[in-house]
Amino acid sequence: MLVDYHVHTLGHGECGNSLEELIPFFREASQQGLAHLGIADHTQLAPRRVVSALRQANTYFPEVELKLGLELDLSRDTEEELKLALDMPELDFVIGSVHYIGDWLFNNPALQEEFKRRDLSTVYEQYYNRLLYACGTRLVDVVGHFDLIKLFNPGIPPEGIMHYAEPVLKAIKDADLCVEINTSGLYQPVAEMYPSEEILRRCYEYRLPVTFGSDAHTPEEVGRDISLARQLAKKVGYRQVATFAKRRRIMLFF
Ligand SMILES: [Zn+2]
Ligand SMILES: [Zn+2]
Repeated sequence: MLVDYHVHTLGHGECGNSLEELIPFFREASQQGLAHLGIADHTQLAPRRVVSALRQANTYFPEVELKLGLELDLSRDTEEELKLALDMPELDFVIGSVHYIGDWLFNNPALQEEFKRRDLSTVYEQYYNRLLYACGTRLVDVVGHFDLIKLFNPGIPPEGIMHYAEPVLKAIKDADLCVEINTSGLYQPVAEMYPSEEILRRCYEYRLPVTFGSDAHTPEEVGRDISLARQLAKKVGYRQVATFAKRRRIMLFF
């Protein structure tokens, strides 16, 4: 079975939640054969979500199960924003992500030159320290795009990726969280999923549960390459995918 637990219906704020805007997300999910459509809008946009419109759009495609979630940014969101978002009723799942190092939105293509100005090991350390912090907050169920810091192909620091990834994997195990296999990295210069196969193999050794996400910001991207994510998961040994209901994890065979 295929699921997509990382879909942004509000984009980066440029889209609304009218019925006409939402129906194409469900249509695409249905065409892609997705059993679950997990909506994970960014924290600041959560108050603009129209749950009744999501439910209504869902009625046209009852074969798709709607899951309500959020993508928190634990490098930027304020306590107030987090509280407002997490107080939303009917939340099924929460993704925790890191998009910032200090004020630097490092995944913004317009700011990628900054990678050349900084020491790579320091950048890696700052990113993974923040991810480690995110795992410890107990606010989230899923760790979003684990190794996002690689997206523009900045190179590998001399001490290797696992030097930074390993403590985070241990923290995920301790906090009993799930790792998402996010396919959007295939469309970035790095041209691979998050996490890499090397890290995913380690996830499997730790027996960390995984789920799948496209990080779609438009209807056309819903479910994109989720079948490849499933293939990769299967290749490293996984047979089950994590799904969510009211912040409870439910493992299903895929
Ligand atoms: Zn993200
Ligand atoms: Zn996202």
